[in-house]
Amino acid sequence: MQKNQAIPDVALLRETFDRGITHDFFWRSSQLHALKSFLIECEKDIADAVYADFRKSAAETLLTETGYLCGEIRHTLKHLKSWMKPQRVSIPLIYKPGRGYYTREPYGVVCIIGAWNYPVNLCLAPLISALAAGNCAVVKPSELAPNTSKLIADGLRRYLDQRAICVVEGGVEISKKLLEERFDYLFFTGSQKIGREVMYAAAKHLTPLTLELGGKCPCIVEENVDLNVAARRIVWAKFLNGGQTCISPDYVLVHKHAEDELLRNMREAIAHFYGDDPKKSPDYPRIINEHHFRRLEKLLVDSIPSGGNTTDQHEQYIPPTILQGVRPEDKIMQSEIFGPLLPVISYGDIREALDIIGKGDNPLALYLFSSDPKVQQRVVRQSKTGGVCINDMLFQASCHMLPFGGIGNSGFGTYHGRAGFNTFSFQRSVLKRSFYPDPDLRYPPYSRVKLSILKHLITYFH
Ligand code: NAD
Repeated sequence: MQKNQAIPDVALLRETFDRGITHDFFWRSSQLHALKSFLIECEKDIADAVYADFRKSAAETLLTETGYLCGEIRHTLKHLKSWMKPQRVSIPLIYKPGRGYYTREPYGVVCIIGAWNYPVNLCLAPLISALAAGNCAVVKPSELAPNTSKLIADGLRRYLDQRAICVVEGGVEISKKLLEERFDYLFFTGSQKIGREVMYAAAKHLTPLTLELGGKCPCIVEENVDLNVAARRIVWAKFLNGGQTCISPDYVLVHKHAEDELLRNMREAIAHFYGDDPKKSPDYPRIINEHHFRRLEKLLVDSIPSGGNTTDQHEQYIPPTILQGVRPEDKIMQSEIFGPLLPVISYGDIREALDIIGKGDNPLALYLFSSDPKVQQRVVRQSKTGGVCINDMLFQASCHMLPFGGIGNSGFGTYHGRAGFNTFSFQRSVLKRSFYPDPDLRYPPYSRVKLSILKHLITYFH
């Protein structure tokens, strides 16, 4: 499959696609079964690779990578036959006798570019959808998680059909080179800055694409909720993956009457989850590289001047940190944090909280802890985010039945479950007519009588 050392020969993949190999239901399901075998048989190797990249624990890898992916494959295999079925539509009288339906067709050769923070999930979840929809695929894992990238490359080579699927390893230059190729669909997960570049590259070939980007996801906590449960859920979601999650709560907006109790509960939850010294916890990951470590350390020191004493550059360790008394205009509120720092801002009225959220870009997710249905409805209606989770965290993204994706600056397009199958296939309309009758009415010359009959038909039978 290799054209030169790094870039695959897309023409060879396209040849496989054109031969119709990947269209077949049995080919699709066999590839999904093989991918599941890879995830199960290599579970320990995968956990070790992810741990080597940023000390993420085997438990977190099971929860957020391999376990999630096996569930996605099971869900896809269960529904694939029905997703592939042509959908019949009822057609108006003037098209009869005839039959109308649409099918979901694979695009062809798709390219999937993943981010490093869920290095297995973000490459293989789109791949599941791409294979289910009958495509050939080139997968480019992130170079920032090199151990996982290598494991994915070796694993997919051994388990999947090499005529149709290949992995390209490498950094920015390889990625750019790859995007010079003409793909039939692009699926990118990463930052807004690179997302823009990917979109430029796609425009050159008029390639349709999905962008899964980031943003600042808010979490609102109202008074009169169980603040202990809210705190545990927020702390879990924020510090999972060392805070390096696109849908983790970037900041908390808490009602002023609930602030003290929420903060106390969050601090207790941190101590409970990670012990008195989170650096020693086997469950607390590290920052992915020095660049991001320095960026986060600066944000921390700008917020708490003594905060730098608690970090460890050698280990790229930043402790789970709650920042109290933050104001919307503070520096930490100006861009996505993407690390274990959690600013908390208090508000007096839900309108204030919504105003703060409304002033920023549209994030991927919004979280709300409230037991008041009116507040729940108002917050959902008056905000614009890719998804919402009420009274819990993150699960809106792991439920296979719910489409996952962003809006505005957090991206466009969705995947997971059926949404992923739809993303990697296009709708093709088919209208089947009979030869007869073939009335003269539709053909010129159009006399006044003909025109008036046509007008009648179009008005009442179209
Ligand atoms: P990134 O944009 O730096 O890199 C993503 C991928 O793009 C990598 O594979 C990289 O090699 C490649 N790349 C880098 N430069 C490129 C270029 N010029 N042209 C083409 N490809 C290029 O992102 P990252 O640091 O890996 O991930 C962090 C960001 O991703 C955060 O903003 C986070 O919120 C976002 N994210 C979004 C989701 C989501 O599902 N929406 C999931 C995870 C992460």
